[in-house]
Amino acid sequence: IERTFSILKPDATERNLTGAVNAVIEKAGLRIIAQRRIRMTRDQAETFYAVHKARPFFGELVDFMISGPVVVQVLEGEGAIAKYREVMGATDPAKAADGTIRKLYARSVGENSVHGSDAPETAAQEIAQFFSGNDIA
Ligand code: ATP
Ligand code: MG
Repeated sequence: IERTFSILKPDATERNLTGAVNAVIEKAGLRIIAQRRIRMTRDQAETFYAVHKARPFFGELVDFMISGPVVVQVLEGEGAIAKYREVMGATDPAKAADGTIRKLYARSVGENSVHGSDAPETAAQEIAQFFSGNDIA
C-alpha cells in the first residue's frame, strides 16, 4: 500500500471546495489518512517548490501558494501516487480529462487546485515536510 502527498491549493479553499475535491479523491478509492488546513509561509513554499526555482513561473507560484489557506493531506491506496496524478488530471486544465479534479475545478495552469507527488522519493520527502508520525492514522 502506497502513500502520496496532496495539497488543495488556495484557489480551491477560496471557493470552499475542500469537500468537493475530497469526494473525488475518496470516490477514486484513495483514503485521506492525514489532513490539516494551514497558511504556508514563504519559506515553506520556497522549500516545497525548490525543484522549480529556475523556472520563470517560480515567483508567481510561491506568491500564489501563500495567497490563502491550503489543505495538506496524506493519501493512501494501491498505487496511490499514479492514481492521484490520474485523478488530478493534466497540469493545464484545458488539457485535463473529463471528471478529473483539474478539469472540474482548476482556473488555469497556475491556479490548478491541487498538487500531488510525482514519485515515491518526493512523496516521502513532501509528507515529512508537513506531517510527523503521530499525525498520520
Ligand atoms: P504539482 O507539482 O503542483 O502537482 P504538476 O506536477 O502537474 O503539478 P509541475 O510541472 O510540477 O506540475 O508544476 C508545479 C506547479 O507549478 C503546477 O501545478 C502549477 O501550479 C505551476 N505551474 C506549472 N507550469 C506553470 C506555468 N507555465 N505557469 C504558471 N504556473 C505554472
Ligand atoms: Mg509537480
